Amino acid sequence: MTDEATLEVRDLTTRYGPVTALDGVNVRARPGEITAVLGANGAGKTTLLRSISGLVRGTDGSVLLGGRDMSRAPVEAIARAGVAHVPEGRGVITELTVEENLRLGDLLGATRPQRRHRLDGVYEMFPALAERRRQEASSLSGGERQMLVIGRALLSGPEVLLLDEPSLGLAPRIVTQLFGLLRDLVDRDGLTVLLVEQNARSALAIADTGFVLNLGRVVAADAADTLAADDELRHAYLGF
Ligand code: ATP
Repeated sequence: MTDEATLEVRDLTTRYGPVTALDGVNVRARPGEITAVLGANGAGKTTLLRSISGLVRGTDGSVLLGGRDMSRAPVEAIARAGVAHVPEGRGVITELTVEENLRLGDLLGATRPQRRHRLDGVYEMFPALAERRRQEASSLSGGERQMLVIGRALLSGPEVLLLDEPSLGLAPRIVTQLFGLLRDLVDRDGLTVLLVEQNARSALAIADTGFVLNLGRVVAADAADTLAADDELRHAYLGF
């Protein structure tokens, strides 16, 4: 039996013209787990997330959500099915307040009480945002901005959260804090999280399982602690 929020990528191939970015990739992410997707620049990590959320289309293979094939579904339908994608880069609108930025995430037709409940949940998770709710987002630090874009994604009430390099540009201490909050969120709400990271060490420290991509292919897939303990793999692909 497949859980409603289990994400399965089967034999996925995605091309940009002559460039094969993903070449027969298989990845599975389960609810209540953080699944890390690791690999060097150009390995295909971002393309994997974009292929799942429908921003690019695989040429072969499929993406299943709870056993349902979403490979040909429109981007909005994939979002409505509960997939929220937080792309690389901040995406914060600095002229708007923290709360206005968060509310941009609740456009998917939730009821007022649902929206209130989700907003309260985000503030509970990220007290730094609650304190600054009426301030312009321009006043936030890099880590707080990352919390804001994750919080905004949570306002759509997702079941699957796709995070593209949330640690980029953050100090190690802030990464530890952010990832700790992410782990709490998954443990509390049972979300399915696919975490794309170049910071393999930090990602594996909070992930349950991991996949390593190299030149568009999965070269390793295992429990996070097994991957982290594999010296050869770490040196060859993970950079720590
Ligand atoms: P990074 O960590 O640098 O973001 P990545 O692992 O996310 O890398 P992708 O961005 O998915 O890798 O890129 C995979 C391959 O596809 C690379 O060879 C890249 O140059 C190529 N590629 C990505 N986007 C495009 C595009 N829009 N057009 C052509 N080629 C692309």
